[in-house]
Amino acid sequence: MKTLLVTGCAGFIGSNFVPYFLDKYPDIRLINLDSLTYAGNLKNLSDAPEGDRHIFVKGDICDRILVESLFNQYDIRGVIHFAAESHVDNSIKNPGIFVQTNVNGTFTLIDVAYKYWMEKPFVFKPGYEGCRFHHISTDEVYGTLGETGLFTEETSYAPNSPYSASKAGSDMIVRSYHHTYGMDTVITNCSNNYGPKQHDEKLIPTIIRKALNNENIPIYGDGKNIRDWLYVLDHCKGIDLVYHSGRSGEVYNIGGRNERNNNQIAERICTLLDTIKPNENGISYKNLITYVEDRAGHDRRYAIDATKIETELGWRAEETFDTGIVKTVEWYLNKYSLDQ
Ligand code: NAD
Repeated sequence: MKTLLVTGCAGFIGSNFVPYFLDKYPDIRLINLDSLTYAGNLKNLSDAPEGDRHIFVKGDICDRILVESLFNQYDIRGVIHFAAESHVDNSIKNPGIFVQTNVNGTFTLIDVAYKYWMEKPFVFKPGYEGCRFHHISTDEVYGTLGETGLFTEETSYAPNSPYSASKAGSDMIVRSYHHTYGMDTVITNCSNNYGPKQHDEKLIPTIIRKALNNENIPIYGDGKNIRDWLYVLDHCKGIDLVYHSGRSGEVYNIGGRNERNNNQIAERICTLLDTIKPNENGISYKNLITYVEDRAGHDRRYAIDATKIETELGWRAEETFDTGIVKTVEWYLNKYSLDQ
């Protein structure tokens, strides 16, 4: 049985990826390395219980001795690297940990993988030829767009927050290990994800939770910042495709062609909640929307051109925002009712 190392899979995207991947590939075993920061939660993995094919290890990707011991113990044959500090607001308050985890942690992982899989630059150890390092990254590395245009894989990097700068740094390290050492790497840069299991601090869970608690729903600035929203399972399917079929050394952008500004997101969720779980006072949840001081350096618009992954690998987002948001709201309604 082939064993892969996945990192950060007690977090939002990884914990959606693990059950999907285990179900699809019965001959693959996953070693799931996660340090369980505030963003990681083992409850997210309740639909992927531990067993022979899913082994959870609590630990830090920056801990080289631990990472080496996992490669040796489990004979790791591939890495899918999700672990990161991921919240822009936190990166503004405390950038150091973003550099530590996102840059140094990615370096540690790929350097251990290089030494475990390869004899020297461009020469794999016998039997390790197919070993691949897949780095999960973000469209935020490209900076911000004006009213038109889309990010392609050729767009120059121009990260604006400590979060996106640290992710850009990690992308560059991965790129360099392909070009300098001949490692088999792929990078995916994805737009904003939404769906089940996202941490409460992020926009969509915040809107739902505040509405249900009858509290003000905080929206930054004028609410006109645009993101390209992708349902998390569509991202997981894209990762799977790129990991198995993407060309070595390539970058693939993943995005849902579903641009929405924050006002539209908040209004859509409030409209849904007004129907599914109307406020007891009879007033629309939209009345709770409140504008707060904008995030420092807030990028105005991100949008992905997904032509490369669509044409080369046949990927397509299966959910539109309107279908995915219904599933998402229902999932949080259930979660928040169980939390009470
Ligand atoms: P998340 O914050 O929900 O989860 C991150 C996970 O990494 C957590 O389980 C945390 O415990 C773990 N972790 C953090 N530091 C670690 C360390 N030093 N060692 C081991 N584990 C550590 O993040 P997410 O939203 O699931 O994002 C996963 C990846 O996808 C990240 O690399 C992020 O940059 C990227 N990404 C996210 C989005 C999005 O919209 N959420 C979009 C594009 C790309």
